[in-house]
Amino acid sequence: ELETRLSIRSNDEIGFLAGAINDLAVDLQRYRDTRQEFLANISHELRTPITYLKGYTKVVKDRLYETEGERDLYLDIIHEEAHRLEHLVEDLFELAKMEEGKITLTLDWIDLKHMTEQAVRRVELKAKEKGLPLKITYHGDSYRVRGDEKRMEQIMMNLLENAIRYTDEGEITVHVDEEVDGDSVLFIVEDTGIGIPEEELPYVFERFYRVEKSRSRQYGGTGLGLSIVKKLVELHGGNIRIASQPGIGTRCEVQLPRLPKTEK
Ligand code: ADP
Repeated sequence: ELETRLSIRSNDEIGFLAGAINDLAVDLQRYRDTRQEFLANISHELRTPITYLKGYTKVVKDRLYETEGERDLYLDIIHEEAHRLEHLVEDLFELAKMEEGKITLTLDWIDLKHMTEQAVRRVELKAKEKGLPLKITYHGDSYRVRGDEKRMEQIMMNLLENAIRYTDEGEITVHVDEEVDGDSVLFIVEDTGIGIPEEELPYVFERFYRVEKSRSRQYGGTGLGLSIVKKLVELHGGNIRIASQPGIGTRCEVQLPRLPKTEK
């Protein structure tokens, strides 16, 4: 609760000013709360893998295992957790830069068809390991957009990795479609995975939001991917939509204008 609230006794300028200051104080408090929550989330997310690392290295060091197979299992967990930690730090750094407005796009003409093929090739092995076919379809004549190559790739990789991560059987389909008006191109990733309940959909772009904490952990996510994707898409003047049905699958649709507004 705010202790600094001014009392508003009149409708004159002073009263108006007091009202404005109170609004500011409320905004400030809200900002402090989200900052606090953000920090609490970060320390929780960092602490979890560290706890695993400490625990399992000790188990191996003290030889508290019975077979070599068991020991290898613990080493695998250690490796996975170190990997998760690395991923988390990268994502956090990326997000912090964006929040500070420190990301500037280096714009080039990009052929989304070519870039999609590259991105799909990069995740092919992961999909294969899970027995998931990856397909690409195209609709249109030109898939050229003005964008930042590295960031665009990040958008695609994040969506593709999510699709693979949250799908156990079926297939992943990527659509690259020129919009009818010709002003933008759609990049769509569709999966036949576990899906997201309707009431959770509005929150998936929030930092650290996971549909089910334990579920996401088991699948290996950080809860930051989609919030980064959304920011990057918006930096390009585009927008992202997500539709999903539990047990049926998820569809993420990114609309990218050929030219961001600032360049028109
Ligand atoms: P994470 O790194 O945990 O995957 P994201 O920010 O990328 O975090 O996504 C937020 C949450 O949305 C995920 O934890 C997951 O529960 C859900 N989600 C994202 N993509 C999919 C998908 N393709 N299918 C099912 N659930 C998904």
